[in-house]
Amino acid sequence: MSEDHQDGVPLLKVSALKKHFPIKKGFLKKNDQFFKAVDGVSFEVKAGETFGVVGESGCGKTTTGLMIAELLEQTSGDIWFDGRDLSRLNEHERRLVRKDLQIIFQDPFSSLNPRMKVFDIVAEPLIVHGMASGKKLKEDVLNLLEEVGLGKQHLDRFPHEFSGGQRQRIGIARALALKPKLIVCDEPVSALDVSVQAQILNLLKTLQKKYNLTYIFIAHGLPTVKHISDRIAVMYMGEIVEIATKDALFDNMKHPYTEALLSAIPVMNPHQKADRIILEGELPNPANQPSGCKFHTRCPYAQSVCKQDVPKLQNDGEGHDVACHFPLNKNISQALNQEQPAQR
Ligand code: SF4
Repeated sequence: MSEDHQDGVPLLKVSALKKHFPIKKGFLKKNDQFFKAVDGVSFEVKAGETFGVVGESGCGKTTTGLMIAELLEQTSGDIWFDGRDLSRLNEHERRLVRKDLQIIFQDPFSSLNPRMKVFDIVAEPLIVHGMASGKKLKEDVLNLLEEVGLGKQHLDRFPHEFSGGQRQRIGIARALALKPKLIVCDEPVSALDVSVQAQILNLLKTLQKKYNLTYIFIAHGLPTVKHISDRIAVMYMGEIVEIATKDALFDNMKHPYTEALLSAIPVMNPHQKADRIILEGELPNPANQPSGCKFHTRCPYAQSVCKQDVPKLQNDGEGHDVACHFPLNKNISQALNQEQPAQR
């Protein structure tokens, strides 16, 4: 679709992205309150990298992914992909860009049409975009299935005849069909057994290497994003609170919320000391968000300034950004090494 990427030029640039949903109070009543699902998120993703996005349910990570995948319109902010501002495309340009931007969903069962056979599911994007027909279409679909570890024997089956891991493989084959540049992976392994999670993560890594794919990998757990990501953004209440390379994040974790996310991971080893941060306070009402730092109602390190002043996402000069008035400096690699998905 466009020129190859030069070193250092991001494939994706997200700037001050917001998605505010109106809260309806009743028939014909004016909406004067908004659920700020995403509230000013900015980041860049380089071609060929995996950018992890992690946070609790409701933090805005999936909404961010849906806006990038062109499945949800933003309230404000810009998304630049492959050198183009997505909000300024005409219909023809948008159709071309959509080939390069694909998504893999969390629940492979509900994302696959139960009335379509595997052949039709994988063939559909190729037909819609006029990329193959007849004998070539059959060959392309079979090649795609083989790329994800399935085969000819699966072509005429329906989604309900497959395991969760196999269904996710079908979803990956469909996402790969149009040879995209960027795939938003929206919690693609969260619904799978741990052993199957590792297989799917390894498959995604293999495909990335082979096709120079760029991933935005969304997950609610740090071990999963650590397994696959090059850089990681941590989100809380619609904002990015920390962003760093994988090594910098785990060797020198700075935000108290990142520390709390780590504490939520169950400790498997009974002899290992569980040095847990228990979050105090209620989850804030999304329609009435806290002043200052949004995390101050639950942060064990909060001080009075935190209630008034919004901490800005600031760079430490080495590519590590944190939004906190009193950043930490903790190494959490050791704890996480015991909690990664099993390698196969
Ligand atoms: Fe905690 Fe204050 Fe940092 Fe917010 S700014 S995370 S309340 S220490």
